[in-house]
Amino acid sequence: MIHFENVTKRYQDGNAAIKSLDLKINDGEFFVIIGPSGCGKTTLLKMMNRLIELTDGTIFVDDKKISDYNIHELRWNMGYVLQQIALFPHMTIEENIAVVPELKKWNNEKIRQRTDELLEMVGMTPEKYRGRKPKELSGGEQQRIGVIRALASDPGILLMDEPFSALDPISREKLQDDILELQRKINKTIVFVTHDMQEAIKLGDRICLMKDGEIVQVGTPKEIIENPVNDFVRDFVGTHSAAVKENICLEDIIEQLLTSHSVAPSTVIIPVTASLREALMLLTEYEQLSVEKEGQIIGIITRQTALQYLAEGLQEVGHGNG
Ligand code: ADP
Ligand code: MG
Repeated sequence: MIHFENVTKRYQDGNAAIKSLDLKINDGEFFVIIGPSGCGKTTLLKMMNRLIELTDGTIFVDDKKISDYNIHELRWNMGYVLQQIALFPHMTIEENIAVVPELKKWNNEKIRQRTDELLEMVGMTPEKYRGRKPKELSGGEQQRIGVIRALASDPGILLMDEPFSALDPISREKLQDDILELQRKINKTIVFVTHDMQEAIKLGDRICLMKDGEIVQVGTPKEIIENPVNDFVRDFVGTHSAAVKENICLEDIIEQLLTSHSVAPSTVIIPVTASLREALMLLTEYEQLSVEKEGQIIGIITRQTALQYLAEGLQEVGHGNG
């Protein structure tokens, strides 16, 4: 568990980038931090691996103060992925992935095995990719290497700072799917910064919405969409949440709700004449619903497509390149 206790960060100019913040992130959780540019997301992330010193308060990792850790031990247990792809240009893909394992003095065979395993995990054939240089890869492929490099030495925690925001929408969606699948397989604690609410809803077990160095709301995607604590959150979550209140009927928005992925039909069936609100109630309990129209199943709504629909209409806030 990562535990922030009354943490404040003041930069030299005296402004507090983080203000008396309390937060607990659970083991194995996909925890998303979201908020406008300049609200303190990167500062929060970098304090965890001591790239930035705290001004006040305490951060604990597994009940031990981060200041009590040996700094290498602390950082080796935290993979770090940046928005800007930061592969070493003169090194091959394999060498890039092996940086931390080599620091840890793993033997060559173990490193080779690990590299291949990781490349396969993200669908990149090792024979094809391991000897290439970063510039011989597409942006999406490079970012994928950035992710697996952070995983190479099997850290317990993965810190990701807007890792996909520089990518085109298709690579971005593919990598989001990859990281979700990885999370299911390897069950790491992931702290993921974004300024895109759709991404947050897709990925997060919980979402932490920040503003001006403070937490505005922490909750599951559903809690945040259904019970935004104030107008700031409501604006962030987007316009479609009104559709729930207006008791809109599934039929009116069905194309936007059905999943495009091929998923097995659900045994829970909802008629297309039901309301969105009724569908959401069922989706609190079931991952997916089969939609019935005139005796035929016309498609599947998943919890995720429904939540994404609700978050739609909202635009990215700023371009968090801080
Ligand atoms: P975000 O990642 O949410 O965009 P940051 O954590 O980068 O936000 O920045 C939070 C605030 O701290 C901003 O007002 C930013 O200008 C300020 N800040 C960030 N880094 C420094 C620094 N090294 N010195 C002074 N102020 C900084
Ligand atoms: Mg930032």
